[in-house]
Amino acid sequence: MAEITAAPTALLDLRGVRKTFRTPERHERTVLEGVDFKLEEGEIVALLGKSGSGKSTLLRIMAGLIKANGGEVKYRGRPITGPARGISMVFQSFALFPWLTVQENVELGLEAAGIGKAEREERANEAIDLIGLGGYESAYPKELSGGMRQRVGFARALVMRPDVLLLDEPFSALDVLTSETLREDLVELWDERKIPTKGILLISHNIEEAVSVADRVLVFSSDPGRVRAEIRVNLPRPRDTESAAFRQIVD
Ligand code: ADP
Ligand code: MG
Repeated sequence: MAEITAAPTALLDLRGVRKTFRTPERHERTVLEGVDFKLEEGEIVALLGKSGSGKSTLLRIMAGLIKANGGEVKYRGRPITGPARGISMVFQSFALFPWLTVQENVELGLEAAGIGKAEREERANEAIDLIGLGGYESAYPKELSGGMRQRVGFARALVMRPDVLLLDEPFSALDVLTSETLREDLVELWDERKIPTKGILLISHNIEEAVSVADRVLVFSSDPGRVRAEIRVNLPRPRDTESAAFRQIVD
């Protein structure tokens, strides 16, 4: 008897996604047109594109924060109709609440999900330790460096134990060294399976950053935004950015 094996379902599956915005002059402006994209289980994919090409718009569609005007957007085979449990996002601008401590910022999503105090504390402590923020639980964002603030951003996403992590240029507000350290820490959590996350999508406008973490880099370009090319990165992580093989891809 023939065995029927279903193809594994992608974590994220986008087909023909279209997004328009209305300009102040009431014209329709097409920002995304015909975007096809898949995030498979076990991969880190980077979406590389210039500022204004529609990357954040696409990510916000995947996060269920805004709706596409056309096409299909699925998470594990099901249409995305709003923010999905299982998908967490990290923002370029950190988006922390300044009046809340590190611990409180990290616990907030759990509180919204109706999780009780004891479990919130336990999970927040776990996320805070994982991302290297141990000892800063009662600090306020303004007392932290940019790199530490973004670590809070990561802790807040990781505390949800997300299946999928959507990263919207999380390193671009940081200086080169801070960005590199945080990237290395993220890759370590991923490669050593210290987090339950099954797929990561990183948005970036920096090819070096994209190649340093991703298994695939999709090149996105505008007017309207769509994926134009794909680079497969067959180099081991952590990646030696000084190596000839790495330089060949980036240069
Ligand atoms: P990227 O993240 O690649 O820099 P964005 O997705 O933020 O690009 O923006 C793509 C384009 O869509 C930009 O021209 C931006 O001005 C426009 N845009 C984004 N969000 C809105 C919105 N809510 N209303 C109108 N235009 C928007
Ligand atoms: Mg953006």
